[in-house]
Amino acid sequence: MVNKYEKIIDKIEKIDPVNYAKNRNFIDGSVTKLSPYISRGVISTKYVFEKILEQKIPFYKIEKFVQELCWRDYWQLIWKEKKEAINFDLKNNQENVKNYSFSKSLYEAKSGIQAIDNSINELYSDGYMHNHNRMYLASIACNVAKSHWMNPAKWMYYNLLDGDWGSNALSWQWVCGSNSNKKYYANQENINKYCYTNQKNTFLDIDYSSFENLEVPENLVETIDLNLKTSMPPRTTLKIDNHKPTLIYNYYNLDPNWRIDKEYNRVYLIEPKVFDKYPVSNKCLDFSTELSKNIKNIQVYVGSFLDLVSEYDLKETIYKEHPLNNYSGHEDQRDWMFEHKENLKSFFSYWKKCKKELNIKN
Ligand SMILES: Cc1cc2nc3c(=O)[nH]c(=O)nc-3n(C[C@H](O)[C@H](O)[C@H](O)COP(=O)(O)OP(=O)(O)OC[C@H]3O[C@@H](n4cnc5c(N)ncnc54)[C@H](O)[C@@H]3O)c2cc1C
Repeated sequence: MVNKYEKIIDKIEKIDPVNYAKNRNFIDGSVTKLSPYISRGVISTKYVFEKILEQKIPFYKIEKFVQELCWRDYWQLIWKEKKEAINFDLKNNQENVKNYSFSKSLYEAKSGIQAIDNSINELYSDGYMHNHNRMYLASIACNVAKSHWMNPAKWMYYNLLDGDWGSNALSWQWVCGSNSNKKYYANQENINKYCYTNQKNTFLDIDYSSFENLEVPENLVETIDLNLKTSMPPRTTLKIDNHKPTLIYNYYNLDPNWRIDKEYNRVYLIEPKVFDKYPVSNKCLDFSTELSKNIKNIQVYVGSFLDLVSEYDLKETIYKEHPLNNYSGHEDQRDWMFEHKENLKSFFSYWKKCKKELNIKN
């Protein structure tokens, strides 16, 4: 995974939105792998969107890509609106829950479904998983192994370099039916097609009509209790100039261009209480620290916002809006793709209004 800003920008130049629309669901499709940089706030959805529009391709050919990008803003807006409520079954109670943990065989990448086991191993080694495989895995965990979504979602978030609790929790809830009208299922035939495997006689090798009454397959019955923890780096001493305001960066905002034209103290704030509640692996935390090095003169502070303010007697703090922030000071808004921020009842009602802003002629 690259972490130099210039290399990240190069990746945006290489996006192929037309092929994306044709093959994004295949394991080798033209997906961008930009999510770790968007999630960490290094680049915004708006920036990627504007770069795509610069390609001057007729809109109908890039619509699928723009729509997928827009899902990110949509989930963020819901998180912003519902706050803590996204940590509970949002629209309906998840039905048919048998446990509140996670299948041991999924955790160990030994479910017996090759494509899924491979992609869990890839998650552990590279911190990435293709969107379709995230859906398959969530469906197996919640709808076949019948675990409540919360702990499996936390496990995935812990391991993803692109961990974004809004997209994560709300997508898991979409798959298990607590944030949608029905549970999402994928059978072996579907997985074989998109992942180029050729497995037969697995517990997923059944008709869709059989899923609703399927008993938990033997291989998924045993569960484990997850012990997800982020170990905090040591606190170091900062050099603060009290004549300048202080910009607060965090796990969701590592934008190297933020207020770039003026002099500030720039602090990457790692708050233990945020990581106690939403733990990430140390690989993910280290990745974010590497990304923060794109910000000139950034210093890392481990502790709470209040500790930082009182230890260094900070008079003026500035931060970017995000649902996890509990800071005081001046709040900058983030860059959204569209001005429109209502009609959140369904993605497509939101999308319809956003599309109007574009005033599309082709
Ligand atoms: C169960 C589950 C958990 C998920 N957890 C996360 C998560 O923690 N963090 C995260 O960033 N995404 C999450 N997603 C959404 C999606 O899978 C990833 O954003 C996408 O796979 C990232 O890969 P990419 O950058 O190659 O995406 P591309 O397909 O290249 O898409 C480009 C960009 O569009 C946005 N995007 C595309 N698809 C989606 C989507 N379905 N929802 C939201 N945004 C999307 C992302 O910002 C992505 O970087 C989850 C999806 C599911 C089904």
